[in-house]
Amino acid sequence: MTKDYYEVLGVSKNATKEEVKKAYKKLAMKYHPDVSKEKDAAEKFKRISEAYAVLSDDEKRKQYDTFGGDAFSQAYSQEDIFRGSNFEDIFGDLFGGDNIFDTLFGGRSRPRRRVGSNLRYDMEIEFDEAAFGAEKKIEFERHEKCSACDGTGAKGGDMVTCPDCHGSGVIRRTHRTPFGMFSQTATCGSCEGEGEVMKGACPECHGKGVFVRKRKITVKIPAGVDTGHTLRLSGEGESVMNSPNGDLFVVIHVKPHKIFQRDEDDIYLELPLSFSQAVLGAEVEIPTIKGKAKLKIPSGTQSETVFRLKGEGISNIDGYGKGDQYVKVKIITPSKIGKREREIFEELDSMDRKNLKGSLFDKLFR
Ligand SMILES: [Zn+2]
Ligand SMILES: [Zn+2]
Repeated sequence: MTKDYYEVLGVSKNATKEEVKKAYKKLAMKYHPDVSKEKDAAEKFKRISEAYAVLSDDEKRKQYDTFGGDAFSQAYSQEDIFRGSNFEDIFGDLFGGDNIFDTLFGGRSRPRRRVGSNLRYDMEIEFDEAAFGAEKKIEFERHEKCSACDGTGAKGGDMVTCPDCHGSGVIRRTHRTPFGMFSQTATCGSCEGEGEVMKGACPECHGKGVFVRKRKITVKIPAGVDTGHTLRLSGEGESVMNSPNGDLFVVIHVKPHKIFQRDEDDIYLELPLSFSQAVLGAEVEIPTIKGKAKLKIPSGTQSETVFRLKGEGISNIDGYGKGDQYVKVKIITPSKIGKREREIFEELDSMDRKNLKGSLFDKLFR
């Protein structure tokens, strides 16, 4: 297939935009699949449309001229080429205002398949349920297929061929334009493309094919979900007449925990330590999401020191291992002390003063 767009449109390399447009318009009227009698009209129409999409766009044309056809087709997909192209000012509503891309790459004349609406359900779960997964029962209302008519909406399920489109689901209209006779196809409005209509309305659903029902299901929450995650339950959405159900989207909201904070798969905990524990060191028992763990605090630990407990976080929802738990030390200064404690602190204070004599601190502040 020749990739010389100028040759395809039959214009010179320095053709103006107006000349390019004129050439394309002429060829398009000849090869548009709706009007052309030629065997490979669709293929030719596609080729000239691609050439026009490139040569009518300053940026794409520049790229094409600079790098040549081969490099250009490697850099631009078919979709890229047609993105942003304006074919409407050429065809107007001549071909029923169809999207050019659909015309070229299928999608037209095939009746659109209806699908029921998607539903949203907001679910609040506990911190632990998010961390370890859970099964939750939910109840919601949705349109479900009417069992009396099997979703057809027809009395007794009886359908007859649509009198308007004779069962094809599409209507073809022919009209005269300055370029000749054109015909366009559109989805049949009477049967909405189904090709069949009902003989009489179902008394249960009044011809709608669906009715509102309460539905109870169990939702499996995978371990590692977080606020904002969405679970998609295929087919649990609404039903419309004669069509597959939409989906149910469960939007997760995780309640905060009393002591743990979470950042993605990591857990954060603030650990209060007494002054003497920090000075002397200690072995403390700390809570983790799974229970308890022992943490060794070395002597001389400063406030704000962070310890990391590897693998004590949350399992990654996509299976990429586990997060960690971070423990941040917060030294608590006693606000109320007894007589004996006061004596000890005063003794400590006088020792501290001796220790600090001649230190940088002493020089600066005393
Ligand atoms: Zn019809
Ligand atoms: Zn019914």
